Amino acid sequence: MAGRLADKMAVVTGAGRGIGAQIARAMAREGAHVIAVDIDEEGANSVARECGGTARRVDVAREEDWQALAELLSRQNAGKLDILVNNAGIECVKPTAEYSLDEWRSLMAINVDGIFLGCRILTGALASAAQARGGSSSVVNISSIAGLVAYPNQLAYNTSKGAVRHLSKSLAVDWPAAGHSIRCNSIHPGFIRTPMLEEVVDEWLEAGLLPRDDPWGAVSAMCPIKTLGMPEDIALGAVYLASDEARFVTGIELVIDGGYVAQ
Ligand code: NAP
Repeated sequence: MAGRLADKMAVVTGAGRGIGAQIARAMAREGAHVIAVDIDEEGANSVARECGGTARRVDVAREEDWQALAELLSRQNAGKLDILVNNAGIECVKPTAEYSLDEWRSLMAINVDGIFLGCRILTGALASAAQARGGSSSVVNISSIAGLVAYPNQLAYNTSKGAVRHLSKSLAVDWPAAGHSIRCNSIHPGFIRTPMLEEVVDEWLEAGLLPRDDPWGAVSAMCPIKTLGMPEDIALGAVYLASDEARFVTGIELVIDGGYVAQ
């Protein structure tokens, strides 16, 4: 059986580890050629090797890095891109009064500017692929349940993820209005076991927000199905949104969170 993403070219950011690495693997499994993008070149290389894809060092906050990626696509794929997954993101856990303006700006530069830049600079490549294929290209932006409800001590992160939610809806409206067949959706993961969540759990422990004897049990207990999510749970959602099965799906918030925001 042909893969659900056969013959498609996909760029996945933050693909060096965690959720992004699993999205890259799942898309490759479904037949996509994956360009694994990360600020961590070694991580991106190792995931690209596993996927039979290619790797590229890109700092998503740097416009010139995105331009260089667009040039690579022009050389390698006639400037066409079927799937863009904007997954790279960073966290910051601290009380609001302790944020410096620089810390606020550097988080926004990655979590929000990075997605704006990728979407703007690769619009032409996404539109060309859709036209050549006679279908639609797909952008999947990784937000968070923190883009729907607020976590304590995470003002910048919560705000950035709310922006990703609305940026995605805005593009879902703007691209078709400009004549481009590009769909755009956001995914809102709950607690997913990755290096980022491990860092956050350490910070919550330090802030006295979790019990020392069983912090992971306490995190699992926060959602109705009382279990942690795994990167594959998010990867399967991303594959669906990227595939032609989702041809009529744009502007949605796909919440994958074990019921956390249903409470
Ligand atoms: P992760 O384990 O920290 O992985 C993120 C990857 O992005 C890392 O390889 C990181 O590289 C890379 N990265 C960081 N800054 C970058 C930049 N400027 N340019 C390019 N790559 C960059 O995080 P994750 O848990 O997989 O999270 C992935 C996405 O899901 C994030 O947007 C996160 O906000 C979102 N999310 C995660 C959870 C969760 O529970 N894990 C829940 C909701 C939403 P370095 O390692 O070198 O920094």
